[in-house]
Amino acid sequence: MEAIGTVYLVGAGPGDPDLLTLRAASLLERARIVVHDGLVDPQVLALAPADARLVSVAKRRAHHTLPQEDICALLVREALAGNDVVRLKGGDPLVFGRGGEEAEACRAAGVPVEIVPGISAANGAAAAAQIALTHRDAASVVSFVAGQCKGLSDQDWTGLAGKGRTLVIYMGVKTAPAIAEKLIADGLAPDMPLAVIENACRPQMRVLRGPLAALPDIVVREAVQSPALIVIGQVTAREDHALATLALEAQS
Ligand code: SAH
Repeated sequence: MEAIGTVYLVGAGPGDPDLLTLRAASLLERARIVVHDGLVDPQVLALAPADARLVSVAKRRAHHTLPQEDICALLVREALAGNDVVRLKGGDPLVFGRGGEEAEACRAAGVPVEIVPGISAANGAAAAAQIALTHRDAASVVSFVAGQCKGLSDQDWTGLAGKGRTLVIYMGVKTAPAIAEKLIADGLAPDMPLAVIENACRPQMRVLRGPLAALPDIVVREAVQSPALIVIGQVTAREDHALATLALEAQS
């Protein structure tokens, strides 16, 4: 009988291949099969050998090309057939990446799994936009939430945003009006500063700032596209940001 292969759930980071871990890069460079999401940057995929099999299971909001059960089944089937599989996910596999479900499916089938962390969009975007997620003078709590998974209205975000706290919203572009409404209804000041960071860690990155009440307008006026993060809190409006924004513009 063939030896069982291992499934490597690998974080590909937010875009720039320089932000891969050494472990991720070395697994990719010797991969035979790479199963990847739509969010993974083509420059990262280019690290796989030319003859490796690349399988895209790209998911777009409301348009799943491959349902999650089928992705899990594919990973298990390949491993049971004796193949090591690199399952490459944008950011970190365990932050809104359904990596937990894939690891469970593998363990249930007796397939060994290794999880390789990646730089999550929040960390990549914060660094690229020079926004401190925590700051001695502005925030000592940071939370990550999803703007559209399992129903926005079912999620309880009370207490996650406000003075001294930073809220990072993944997948929030499409639901921006409902997000602003929900947070203001929860008591957040309409002038609470925020930043929308589109395509963080990619050449076309944009950082847009404004007050919470203007979030729906910013998204429409600037035609913000996924992938983008919304960061809400005082940390996004420190006075030195005007300088950082100028420096970014000068670079591009
Ligand atoms: N596992 C990923 C998140 C997957 S959910 C991680 O840890 O980053 C997909 C969401 O992540 C997108 O809708 C967007 O909100 C965010 N995202 C991913 N890459 C991004 C990027 N380069 N810039 C801004 N947001 C990004």
